[in-house]
Amino acid sequence: MAQLGAQSGAQSRPGNGRKTRIVMKFGGTSVANIERINAVAARVKREVDAGHEVAVVVSAMSGHTNQLVAWCSEISPMHDAREYDTVVASGEQVTAGLTAIALQTLGVNARSWLGWQMPMLTNDAHGKARIMSIDAEGFEKRFAQGQVAVVAGFQGIGPDNRITTLGRGGSDTSAVALAAALKADRCDIFTDVDGVYTTDPRIVAKARKLDKVTYEEMLEMASLGAKVLQIRSVEMAMKHGVRVQVLSSFEDKPGTLVVNEDEIMEQELVSGIAYSRDEAKITLVAVPDRPGVAASIFGPLSDANINVDMIVQNVSEDGKNTDMTFTVSKGDFERAKQVLTGKQNSLNFRTLISDSNVVKVSVIGVGMRSHAGIAQRMFRALAEKGINIQVISTSEIKISVLVAEEYTELAVRALHTAYGLDAE
Ligand code: ASP
Ligand code: MG
Repeated sequence: MAQLGAQSGAQSRPGNGRKTRIVMKFGGTSVANIERINAVAARVKREVDAGHEVAVVVSAMSGHTNQLVAWCSEISPMHDAREYDTVVASGEQVTAGLTAIALQTLGVNARSWLGWQMPMLTNDAHGKARIMSIDAEGFEKRFAQGQVAVVAGFQGIGPDNRITTLGRGGSDTSAVALAAALKADRCDIFTDVDGVYTTDPRIVAKARKLDKVTYEEMLEMASLGAKVLQIRSVEMAMKHGVRVQVLSSFEDKPGTLVVNEDEIMEQELVSGIAYSRDEAKITLVAVPDRPGVAASIFGPLSDANINVDMIVQNVSEDGKNTDMTFTVSKGDFERAKQVLTGKQNSLNFRTLISDSNVVKVSVIGVGMRSHAGIAQRMFRALAEKGINIQVISTSEIKISVLVAEEYTELAVRALHTAYGLDAE
């Protein structure tokens, strides 16, 4: 059984006369109806005819999982997580079977696989389970017979022998995990966009599709709200060295490769501009400037399961009081204010100021690790547009600023131009 996490080396396959092995994953819009499923089958057949070994992973028909989730909640908002999994995993069972039939109709030897049949073992966190291992042996035998495996994404089997699901968007993670277990040469993720862009094309008409992007950049982009891939699938690809390609199932052209840094010859300084409107800012005015204060502010927030993102603490002028500013997601905003106001006496701050009219704009690029002046260019570009920066935070490959929400488009466009990302 392939223990995920044991070793990396997904790229070790071709060369010694072995066939190229591809995992092809199709998202909800790609299997939305019978016509689309037939198109998927034709696309898969092309790879089979080219002499490749192919495993297919499918999502549920688009909208189907939402419907299943809604039905569970309609009966009871507090439903049993194990039964939720039994219900929501069913969408992928339908598309796996239908895709296998569509392939057979085209004369392709194909067989469906549900999570328990491989098996894909997960932990018992129903509704958001993690994959522990995949038994790739059964697949090897079938590959040798020239059979295409059609795998139901999103689902596995837990230690309690019950069906589990991997969290919304989880069939990306199913596909990458399978690619790792099978040591596939590539994991193609077919979706309704044709790749990863330098920024949101709805905001910047001159956004460019990236040919390649590194795992780390993709992780930052995914956590900043670019919803192309489930974050966990990118983490898993990075850990196991799975080469992932994001491409469209509606058009016939190469997409974006998500790969290791050393596969990218000419690394741009910045590869993308991301933004997230899901931010809200809270300032505690005049908190005591002494050891333990940060712990006493952020402890209760974390106890309430509230994630804090950007944090700034000012230097106190008199050595006594300082201001603490930080951001939380808009969904946690009201609760965060409640938690803190409830502790105003013990935290000893003067007032709480808040603003949910903000956006976080980030520039991302592994190139920034080795180059100076990247942040300066960002600040200058924003200044030239008269945009005031409220909070700044940086990581090794990312600089984020918080600005007023009405500047979202202006800021993203200005930065896209400033870093030379605009298409010709
Ligand atoms: N069908 C599941 C969902 O909608 C899994 C997936 O599509 O990745 O979340
Ligand atoms: Mg998806």
